[in-house]
This record gives sequence, structure tokens and C-alpha cells, in this order.
Amino acid sequence: MRIRALVSGLLVLFVALQAVAAADVQSVRLWRAPDNTRLVFDLSGPVKHNVFTLEAPDRIVIDVSGANLKAQLDGLPLDNTPVAALRAGQPDADTLRVVVDLKAPVSPKSFALAPNQQYGHRLVVDLYDQQGSSPAASASRLPANTAPASPVAPVSPNLPAVKLPATPSSKRDIVIAIDAGHGGEDPGAIGPGKVYEKSVVLQIAKELQRQINAEKGFRAELVRTGDYFIPLRKRTEIARKKGADLFVSVHADAAPRSSAYGASVFALSDRGATSETARWLADSENRSDLIGGAGNVSLDDKDRMLAGVLLDLSMTASLSSSLNVGQKVLSNMGRITPLHKRRVEQAGFMVLKSPDIPSILVETGFISNPSEAKKLQTAGHQQALARSIHSGVKQFFHENPPPGTYIAWLRDAGQIAAGPREHVVRSGESLALLAQRYQVSLASLRSANQLKSDTIKVGQTLAIPATTLASQP
Ligand SMILES: [Zn+2]
Repeated sequence: MRIRALVSGLLVLFVALQAVAAADVQSVRLWRAPDNTRLVFDLSGPVKHNVFTLEAPDRIVIDVSGANLKAQLDGLPLDNTPVAALRAGQPDADTLRVVVDLKAPVSPKSFALAPNQQYGHRLVVDLYDQQGSSPAASASRLPANTAPASPVAPVSPNLPAVKLPATPSSKRDIVIAIDAGHGGEDPGAIGPGKVYEKSVVLQIAKELQRQINAEKGFRAELVRTGDYFIPLRKRTEIARKKGADLFVSVHADAAPRSSAYGASVFALSDRGATSETARWLADSENRSDLIGGAGNVSLDDKDRMLAGVLLDLSMTASLSSSLNVGQKVLSNMGRITPLHKRRVEQAGFMVLKSPDIPSILVETGFISNPSEAKKLQTAGHQQALARSIHSGVKQFFHENPPPGTYIAWLRDAGQIAAGPREHVVRSGESLALLAQRYQVSLASLRSANQLKSDTIKVGQTLAIPATTLASQP
């Protein structure tokens, strides 16, 4: 019996080896990020592979052992990428060779990903733009938002105009990093009618950025500017590089029950989630890295220990700020959409683990709920959500401006008016009257509320921008 078990064990092993030896490339996908291009080969089984670079002309060669190409290599979205074309060959009977013809040199990095809930075996080849070959890579402070020249421009064509950094002065802008969840091959939650969380949250993030950038003293930076994947740890890194004073991650997840509805705001918890939903969401968010692959990024033990110490030192302070700003955002959201929980929840989201930057995760609604999914796709609701997040963030920083910022200067000069920063229009009021009453310019009042004309309606809620007694340009 023993021997028979051993023999059948060997047979299984043999079959497994056979599987390694013959895998089909079932499809090829391509995603463009600001500094790299990701090629994904969907496979019927695990493969061995080898990637190398050739020059004059620039090419990348991907050799895959024992694979058969069952997918089309044309029709990929190559615009704004350094890739000119993909072609396949067979240098010997056991090898599939994919040649990537390049318009500009790149640095390749490849790894295999094991199957998960969404995908099977994958071979991922990331082609990183080289310094100098891409204006996006060499741009200094605002890489995600600069509009680089071809051939390597980000996919997103209609980014809002970026405020140029103010003339050198000690009064810097408060920087808000806005992180649209998911992206690229990680669609996030998928709602009824195939509405993707990754698309909805990017639209909300861009609207929020537009609103924040219209406010003097603030600058918003998008962590993800288009449809591509960023590992969770990289997201907080990008925020730190941009000098963020606050990190806001925007989501619209699914719940186990499709009837669940309402918005919620999360801050990090180091002692476990405050509710079952929080735990469930944290699990599915953190799973994102398994879907997109965090590449070869890993912390060695030394880094981990150092990180732990730093975390303890600054986590307490940034957590109380996170809870504070989270509560302000939540109560503003409560005016325009039902809330799932009335208090800020705490959960172990990886994306919130910046020890030095207050961080919140905003669930704008449950995309698994049919009526919320419908609402989340409308421009009007997206604007209202962005406005409520913006109001909460603004209130927090008016009360707690980081030293050296324009907002701190305004407060110290007694120029930030206390009281409500929203106004519900009553009969007989005009926009000009309100501008005068709140001591703001007509133009800033218009832009804070995206008004195309000066017509306002009774009952309409207007956002009131920060009061500046100084004359406006
Ligand atoms: Zn999400």
C-alpha cells in the first residue's frame, strides 16, 4: 500500500511537471502608469521565464519555456507607451519568445503571480521608463500631474489644471494626497451593471482634487492619475514624496449583503477592527496586493523593526488627527448621503499605515447596493460627495493648520472667520450679498460652488470659502 501511494504520488508530481512544461498564454493585457508600463500574460499554468534587453534598436525579449501563444498580440492600447509593437517567435521547440519593440529604452522587472479570486497564473513584466527618456520620470515635484510630451504620457488626458507652486515664500500650501482605490487589473468591487469601483472612485478623486485646488492655501495631489495598479505600500510612499499633510483614500466597496448601504469613514486601528464590516472590508482591501502583486518589494527584518519603533512614536499623534478629520468628513457626508455608521470606524487597512501622515479611508457608499451604485455614477452625487469630503478636510485644517502654511498665517492674522462654512440660501439673498457678508470675493464663491451663473435658489446649500480680508487678485 505504501508503495502504491508513493507511485501515485510520483504520478501526481509527474503530471504537475507536465503542467509546468505546457501552458497556454490565454490573453495579454497592458496598463500604462505614469512611470511604467505593465504587461500581463494570463496563463493556463505556471511557467519559467527569462527577460532580457537588446539595444539598437531597443527591444525587450521575454522567453517563456514550454508555452503556446493562444492570444492576440495586436490591439493593445500602445498609445502613450514606450512600446511600438509586440511580436512572437519560437527560437526552439520548447520556447515561446515575445519581442517587445520599443520607442524608448526601459528597465524591465518581471515576476510571476499565483492565481487568486479574480485571475489565474500570470506573468507580469513591468517596463520602467528610464530617467531622461520620460519627462514624467524626470519632472521634479509634481510627476503625476505634469503633462509630459510623447511618447510616454500618462493615459489620463483631461487632468484638471494644476496650481503652480506659489512663488517662494514661507507660506506653503497644505497638501492633500487623494488616493483613488484599486486600478488597472484590480477593478475593486464590481456593482450591478458591471460598474467598477476603480472607475467611480477615480472620478470622485479627480472632482475632489479640482475643488481643493480651487481653494487658496491648499493643493491636492492624486496618488493614482489613471487606470493602472499601485501596490498599497507604494501609495503611502507616493503621498509622502508629495509632502502630504493628509492622506485620503477613496473607495466604494461591496458588502457581503447587497442591501447594505451608506457611507463610512475609517481610521487605522492597531488593535483590530471595531466592527465586523470593518474587518471584512479591511481584508478585501488588503487583498488588493495579491491581485496586482506588490512586485519584489519586501522589508527585511531590520527595516521592519525600525518601522515598528517609528510607528509607535508617531502613530498616536497622527491617529488622533485621523479620527478628528474623519469625524468632520463623516458629519459633512451625513448631510448628503445616508451613513453606514455615525462614528469613524477603525480597521487595519494597509493603506492607512503611514505613521507620520494622518490618514483616512472614505467609503463613499456600497457599490453592491443597486441604488447606491446608480447614484455613485452620477456627476451630481460625485460632486456632492467630493464637496462634503472637502468641507470636512477644510474645517480640520482651519482648526489645526500645520505651522508655516498659508492657512496658519491666515488664522494667526485673525482672518479665518469662525462659524459655519456653509450657507443655506434664504429668500431675498443674492450671490453678491453673500460674498459681501462672508467677506469673500464673488469669484471664489462662484468657483467654490462651481456656479456657471450668479443665479441661486432658495434652499440651496453653498460652500463658503475661507475668508480673506486681503484684496484678491
Ligand atoms: Zn475599495
